[in-house]
This record gives sequence, structure tokens and C-alpha cells, in this order.
Amino acid sequence: MSLITIENYIDGELQKPLSGNYLDNYEPATGQVYGLIPESGEGDLEQAVEAAQAAFADWSNTPAEQRAKTMNRLADLIERDQDQLAKAEAIDNGKPIALAKQVDIYRAAANLRFFAQAITQFSSESHAMENLAINYTLRDPLGVVACISPWNLPLYLFTWKIAPALAAGNTVIAKPSEVTPMTAYLFSKLCIEAGLPPGVLNVLHGTGPAIGGPLTTHEQVKAISFTGGSSTGTAIKQATATQHKKLSLELGGKNPTLVFADCDFEPTVKAVARAAFANQGQICLCGSRILIEASIYDRFTAALVTEVEQLKTGDPLDQDTQFGALVSAAHRDKVLSYIDLAQKEGGTLLTGGQTFHPGGRCAEGYFVQPTIIAGLDNQCRTNQEEIFGPVCTVQSFASDAEAVALANDSDYGLASSIWSQDVSRCHRVAKQLQVGIVWVNCWLLRDLRTPFGGMKASGSGREGGLEALRFFTEAKNVCIQFGG
Ligand code: NDP
Repeated sequence: MSLITIENYIDGELQKPLSGNYLDNYEPATGQVYGLIPESGEGDLEQAVEAAQAAFADWSNTPAEQRAKTMNRLADLIERDQDQLAKAEAIDNGKPIALAKQVDIYRAAANLRFFAQAITQFSSESHAMENLAINYTLRDPLGVVACISPWNLPLYLFTWKIAPALAAGNTVIAKPSEVTPMTAYLFSKLCIEAGLPPGVLNVLHGTGPAIGGPLTTHEQVKAISFTGGSSTGTAIKQATATQHKKLSLELGGKNPTLVFADCDFEPTVKAVARAAFANQGQICLCGSRILIEASIYDRFTAALVTEVEQLKTGDPLDQDTQFGALVSAAHRDKVLSYIDLAQKEGGTLLTGGQTFHPGGRCAEGYFVQPTIIAGLDNQCRTNQEEIFGPVCTVQSFASDAEAVALANDSDYGLASSIWSQDVSRCHRVAKQLQVGIVWVNCWLLRDLRTPFGGMKASGSGREGGLEALRFFTEAKNVCIQFGG
């Protein structure tokens, strides 16, 4: 099989890395190298910065309707190529192809359409001082901005960042994860086809240390929108501490799922299983700490195990697969080490815990069974550290107060879900949870206008809707005193 060689996208053209060096790109389901990724460095970065700077004056002065038109054209092309893109995402990431199409590729187009429309509706504030003066706020684009995205939802999160940045009139240097670069590469080709002006978006491939770090500290980069692990977020904060850049950090999570005895039992079991194991548990919003009211703990746990054991595992390219491969051998090993740790900490495996191999072309793939662990207290490492894989724990609670205390007993504060038919309790508990996102009787139901992000170690700033457009613009107040 010939290898697919990915190229950078700089100044409107596909380019080889200046170093001439490439990294291997693995297919997680087979464990085989199937492509090559540019190992970009500071020379490539300089070219991208120059191109982005040169493009800024025109792009920022292009009417919003025109920018929106180009973005909608890109969304059309994503939809035209949705089958090809979904297949590419499933091969690159190991996720089921049906999920890639329904979630990842669907959302990539939706992100572009949403911000294309949002920018035409964006308005700023005015504050009148009775008979004295009028203030109004101007919101101008920042200049060249960096968008750095992770491997779990590759094109989905890549477009979630670049769409508001471009809509607001910035020019962008984007770095997808080196682990899953393929759909960002295919997207670069669509940008050329859509007629996006050269330099408006530049995509650099390569490692965090070689390209991600230098991108964040480059003096011409005015803002960084980053999604990834909390330790990388901290490193970016430290590296840029003296540079006065705008930072939006969407980081890790250890999300609690609160199941009360009065939940709608059967649908809740299904939804909680999905919240824990969608995308093999590799979504920052997955509920990995399942807290269950004591009176239904045994019944709910048994039903959850049954539900999870029915998940159709297998080759990500089979249309009916619900649970595919983990993203890399290193990540599989990390997940397995946590399963081992959980047992050393006194946990009991209720289901899973092993690697598995669907056979055929997937005999060497990175597959780990969906795993549920009981018998651990909330303070152990298994319940405090982000595993970011198909591993969740179950704990019981006796009262609303205990449920909230357990939920909040975490350094993270990204998302949570509450399952109960008592509407007063849902409001009360939602208010008490220390997280940025609460779902009630649902999970991953997304309205792109809502603020998205976490508190504590889960990050700072919010994405989505107006929050994202405000992040990618600089506010300037103009105060005019009335004469006479
Ligand atoms: P990482 O933090 O390892 O990487 C994220 C991105 O940052 C990658 O593109 C990576 O490049 C790059 N990078 C690595 N080091 C640096 C650096 N020093 N400076 C700049 N960029 C750098 O995260 P993962 O890719 O492993 O993604 C998983 C993490 O993302 C989990 O913690 C998960 O919770 C979090 N996440 C958070 C979300 C949220 O919205 N809050 C959503 C999705 C995921 P490379 O891969 O090439 O090393």
C-alpha cells in the first residue's frame, strides 16, 4: 500500500516541510503506518506567520457577508465530501465510521455555517450616560491567531476554533494534533477549492514541542485558542506569561454523572452508557465518575453492565460498529495502566479490563474493552486523574448533599449530567455543581450559541456563540461627551 503524504497549507498552497522530514501516521484499528506527517519547524512557522500577516489587511476589511459566503462554501464542500471525510476520520482516529459521519463531519460543517451566520448578526454594546455622553464599543479582529486542537474530535474541534476566528476577520495558523492530522489536510484542499484567499488560514503539521510551542510564543500571534490536556494548557500559560496574549484554554475533565433513584430508569441506563463510552470514552465531556443513589445502586449498576456488554465492538470501518479502537498504542498503554492501578487501589472490575482484537485486518489494532470499576472511593487516583478512555467508575451516594460533594470533589470542573424526574432537585443540584456545563436528562445536547468550557483545572474562557466572537475580537470603548 502506498503511503499518504500529508502537506502543510501555507499561503494558499500545499507545501512540504522545509526540513524534508516526516513522522509516521498510524491507523489505530490496524496498528499499521499508512501515511506520513510533515515534521514542521520554525522555518515553516515563519512562512505561515508572514502569509497570515500579509493576508490580514484584506481579510479583516472584507465585508462580513463575504467572509460568511466563503465559509458557507466550505461547509457545502464538507457536506459534499462527508462520506470520504468520515472514512478518513475513522481510519485516522479509530472511531466508528457512523459516529464520524453523524457527529464529527456533521459538526464540522455546522461549525462553519453557525459562525458564518453569527458574524452577520454580531453587534456591540452602547452605554448612554443620560444627558452627558454616549459610549459605544468597537470590536476589531486581533490579527494573526493560533488555533491548536487535539486528536479526539479532529475536524470537529479544528473547525470549532477556526470558524469564529475567521468569521471575526482574523487570519489563522492552525495546528491539528500530530496523532490525527488527516482531515485537517483534506480540509486544506477544500479551502483551496472554496477560494479562501491565500494566507487567511494556514495549517502546520508536526509535534507539540517542535511547532505547537513556538507557535504559541511567536510574538506576532495575538491570541491562542487551545483545546487539549490540562498540563499542556499550563505549559502554554507559563510560556506566554510575559507576552500579553489572549488565551482560551479548553482542558481536561473528570466529569460526574449523577443518577438519582427517581430517574427514568431504562432510558437513563442507555444514556449513561453512551455518556461514558462514546468515542471509546475519548471525549472531554464523557461522564467517567458515575454516582448512583444507594437505593438503586445494585439494580442500576447491573443494568449498566448489561447495556455496555451489548455495545457492538469491532472494525471502525464497519457501518454497525459502535465502539472502535483507541487512538494510539501509547494511549492504549496509558489506559491499561489505569485499569491496573484501579485494581491495585482496591477496585473490582464489573466488566471489561482487557484488550481485544476483532480479527482480520484489525488483529494488531489498539482495542480496549469498555470497562466499569466499582469499590473505589472518590479520593483515589483512578477517580481523580483524567484517563480519557473507555474506563468509568461507579460509586453510591445517600443524599443530594453527598452527591454534590462527591461531584465537586475534583480538581476538574468541565461538565456533568443529572438524571432525575424531580425538576426542583435538578435546578438545585445544577446550581451547586462546580462545572461549566450541566446537562439534565440528556448528554452532549449542544446548542452552539451557549457558553462552552470549564472551571478549575478544566480551563479558562468559554467558546461558543458570542463568547467565541468576543474572544477573537478586541473591544474598544469610544466615549463621546455631548456638546452644549
Ligand atoms: P495534548 O494537550 O497532548 O495536545 C493538544 C494539542 O496541543 C495537540 O495539537 C498537541 O500537539 C499540542 N501541543 C502539545 N504540546 C504543546 C505545547 N507545548 N505547546 C503548544 N501545543 C502543544 O492533548 P491531547 O491531544 O492528548 O488531547 C486530549 C486532551 O484534550 C484531554 O485532556 C481532553 O480532556 C482534552 N480535551 C478537552 C476538550 C475541552 O473542550 N475542554 C475537548 C477535547 C479534548 P501533538 O498532538 O502534535 O503533540
